[in-house]
Amino acid sequence: MTGTSSRSFDAVVVGGGIAGVSAAWALARRGQRVAVVEREASLAAHSTGRSVAQFLASYGGPASRILSAASRPFLESGADGLADSELLEPRNVLWVTPAGFEEQLEAKIAANETTGTPCGRLDAAGAMELCPVLDPRWLDAGVIEYGGFDIDVAELHQSFLRGARAEGARVLREHGVRALARRGGSWQVDTGERLLSCATVVNAAGAWADEVARMAGAPPVGLQPYRRTVFTFASHFESASWPLVVGADESFYFKPEGAGQFVASPADEAPIEPCDVKPREIDVAAGIEAVNRATILDVRSVRSTWAGLRTFAPDRIPVVGFDPGEPGFFWCAGQGGTGIQTSRAIASLVADLISGETPAPPLDSIASELSPQRFLK
Ligand SMILES: Cc1cc2nc3c(=O)[nH]c(=O)nc-3n(C[C@H](O)[C@H](O)[C@H](O)COP(=O)(O)OP(=O)(O)OC[C@H]3O[C@@H](n4cnc5c(N)ncnc54)[C@H](O)[C@@H]3O)c2cc1C
Repeated sequence: MTGTSSRSFDAVVVGGGIAGVSAAWALARRGQRVAVVEREASLAAHSTGRSVAQFLASYGGPASRILSAASRPFLESGADGLADSELLEPRNVLWVTPAGFEEQLEAKIAANETTGTPCGRLDAAGAMELCPVLDPRWLDAGVIEYGGFDIDVAELHQSFLRGARAEGARVLREHGVRALARRGGSWQVDTGERLLSCATVVNAAGAWADEVARMAGAPPVGLQPYRRTVFTFASHFESASWPLVVGADESFYFKPEGAGQFVASPADEAPIEPCDVKPREIDVAAGIEAVNRATILDVRSVRSTWAGLRTFAPDRIPVVGFDPGEPGFFWCAGQGGTGIQTSRAIASLVADLISGETPAPPLDSIASELSPQRFLK
């Protein structure tokens, strides 16, 4: 242990992305004295600042869909008044496919039925009414999923942060956790500069959550980060009201982003070690090729590119709950591709479980499914 100046908290949250700040807010509202420690100078420098900012009710497995639905009223309410502006802008989702992949559209309809999300089957002409640049030589059919949104991720993250600070939470940037030790019933969190003691460590370290667990002596749960590439390109189409268009085989997606621009992805998923991930030219090229195959957009150059990590547990279910072996070590990780749209509900679950309260429906029905207990052999 090297940290010198020492302070005591009820909970120290490791990681200042959406998972960390939302958990800090939810805990501080329950009267817990909370500190957030973030290694980077900027709080949303990793996955949270690199998403494509979509709310998609049917996305992810059944547990993630329940978490998304439970988070939605909060997002619609402007984060219970914490947001300075609207957090959601309507953006429906159009799943599209060439001939021969009917079962992929069936799967989308089935996923929507589980959440009660209205959706409808479209022939090629119907899909092209919603997105006129789809290429009729490629397109065979589609499914329109209603009730999707663009999320203002930066404002949502700021709202949680504002709320957490208003409830007394401390936020320490450029404080990477270097060591964790349990002494006399409390945790010592060493950032090199500071030594914080607390009853509960919340592991919201995203792609690095297994690494943080190892510091605490807890076995890793097998989190795997996957790189996802994103690029933007210019367009002269009047496209503001077009849906997010997704290949039903999830091989590409694109949507309008502001005036005269699209954001797109090859929906790649290459396993990679936790890092400040960069886009590869070959993945951007694959994305351009996929968009050009399905549309007449004729993308020839990009305006910007980036990549981010989507981190999953082996079963692709988020990991939320106390570690079964290390008392006071709490997991909030493995949110994969839905960490923004599920953030409110996961934060509630974190606060319920740490405060010793029974989660309210529907979170009570999935709490045990999300628990890291499931990784005990
Ligand atoms: C391209 C892309 C598109 C996406 N699109 C969507 C979408 O449309 N909708 C959606 O809901 N989700 C989407 N996601 C997923 C979403 O972005 C993530 O699930 C979410 O951001 C995860 O948040 P997090 O706080 O767990 O991780 P992060 O934002 O990565 O935060 C973890 C933080 O922990 C910090 N940290 C790590 N180790 C330490 C340490 N030792 N000490 C201190 N701090 C540490 C890191 O610096 C980091 O800031 C997308 C992701 C990507 C990559």
